Amino acid sequence: MPTLTGSNYIAGEASSLGTSTFTSVNPRTRQLGDLPFHNATPDEIHRAVTAAVAAFEQTRHYPTARLADFLDRAAYEINALGDELLQTADMETGLGLPRLTGERGRTTGQLQAFAALLREGTYVEAIIDTAQPDRQPAPRPDIRRMLIPIGPVGVFSASNFPFAFAVAGGDTASAWAAGCPVVVKGHPGHPATSELFAHAINRAILALGFPSGWFSLLQGNTIEVGQLLTVHPGLEAIGFTGSLRAGRAIYDSAARRERPIPVYAEMGSVNPVVILPQAIATRAEALAEGLAASATLGSGQFCTNPGLVFLIENDQTESFINLYRDKMAARAPGVLLNEQIERGLEHAVADTQSRPAVHTLTGGLVVEGDAFCYANTVLRTTAADFIADQSLQTEHFGPVTLIVVCQSRAELESAIRALHGNLTATIHAEVAEIDLAEAIFSLLREKVGRLLWNGFPTGVEVVHAQQHGGPYPATTAPATTSVGLTSIRRFQRPVAYQNMPDVLLPDALKNANPLGIWRIIDNQFTRQPLA
Ligand code: NAP
Repeated sequence: MPTLTGSNYIAGEASSLGTSTFTSVNPRTRQLGDLPFHNATPDEIHRAVTAAVAAFEQTRHYPTARLADFLDRAAYEINALGDELLQTADMETGLGLPRLTGERGRTTGQLQAFAALLREGTYVEAIIDTAQPDRQPAPRPDIRRMLIPIGPVGVFSASNFPFAFAVAGGDTASAWAAGCPVVVKGHPGHPATSELFAHAINRAILALGFPSGWFSLLQGNTIEVGQLLTVHPGLEAIGFTGSLRAGRAIYDSAARRERPIPVYAEMGSVNPVVILPQAIATRAEALAEGLAASATLGSGQFCTNPGLVFLIENDQTESFINLYRDKMAARAPGVLLNEQIERGLEHAVADTQSRPAVHTLTGGLVVEGDAFCYANTVLRTTAADFIADQSLQTEHFGPVTLIVVCQSRAELESAIRALHGNLTATIHAEVAEIDLAEAIFSLLREKVGRLLWNGFPTGVEVVHAQQHGGPYPATTAPATTSVGLTSIRRFQRPVAYQNMPDVLLPDALKNANPLGIWRIIDNQFTRQPLA
């Protein structure tokens, strides 16, 4: 098993030039780890990006099969880390072995799913519009378009998914699949876990003869590391998951560069859930139980956590609210990831509680003890106050639900129109109120990336059809997703070839279709060669 060093990993080499260090913190005990991790220095950041630029000179020519083999090998090496990976991540995050075992499967499965996508080949989206030399008044040229890798990508790991949104998580997997080298800024909440991933990835790089700059890991618990990475002129795109504050700062810095680059930041979301009256009348108990389970899953530290619930007031509303409050209060609060999250949650809830129209039904306080922990919390306000005060849409990153009681359907519609962008929105309804549900869905669709019917938003499948994104402030790029196989498009760039001789065209666009992929030729999907 690899020995942890506390170093950065720059193009395969351990590097610890910096004198400023930090350690892991066990969230169950607040105990500091023994091993110091070195903040990356400006020189190390520069070396990592420069190596990625050099690696791209080679990998941009790699056939997709070679990239696919790398993704499979990375998955294999991650699995080969065995229990040490799970135990290290558990010690650093308190997420528990069952959750982490599932997340490891998702992470390696993601890499393998991208490998399969590459082997199938259609992901380059080849489109051919053949020439029309006789077209009047002017001939039409032959134009062929496909997606190519964008170049070196910077990835910021998230704290709440130490595997699936971290060093070899979805951003990295999709960038690699596109053919892009990656420089990761590891999250300071789990530096040992990050280093284990670096060891596994470097083994895959050596085994398959990839250039060493294909991957680097920068450790850091300072804003400077992330900022220097963001503004390095060698990067072509950034993937980020975390807070609105940090995501926005990185987006703004990237826009201020002499040569701005896209930042795919997935940030805060309160994931509105609308529960219509017939649903409560039919299945109040199951609804309250399911909602409480979703709101407290992973101690509420999910970007898809259902933080906002809309109800239309009638004679069952109070009993449903009380039922939900009791279910939340009855669940033991879980461990939070770190002190920053505990403190951030305390401040965010205190700020919401300070609004005159907000009432605390349960919780609303830090749970004293060894662990970072916050009580399961239910707050309540009215739709009129929700509409008047935009701050009530602030994410409470933890087990917190704000219930918004609407006096009428019209008030519910106004509250939804006032919503900011979110990742998901959910409706619970019965068939008898399908017309109302349709009208509400139609409004919610403009605000989110994923709509759910009679379900709960936590749990995000990694499939082709997944959409994990949404209008700002949920993301900085609402046309893209950070989960699912189409997330690869963030790290691809379209190029059109006009009147290019066949011999100079990439295989995906050649007349003979040597890759056998699906293409659009003169508006028809086909795998046939072009005569
Ligand atoms: P974070 O504060 O957004 O940090 C994420 C990463 O960005 C870290 O590596 C951090 O580095 C870096 N960073 C922070 N500010 C930066 C800046 N101004 N410029 C460049 N880099 C910067 O996220 P977090 O630590 O995971 O959690 C904090 C809060 O984020 C939570 O309380 C929650 O509200 C939110 N969050 C949301 C999601 C979501 O999916 N919506 C997920 C996780 C967290 P340093 O720590 O080294 O400064």
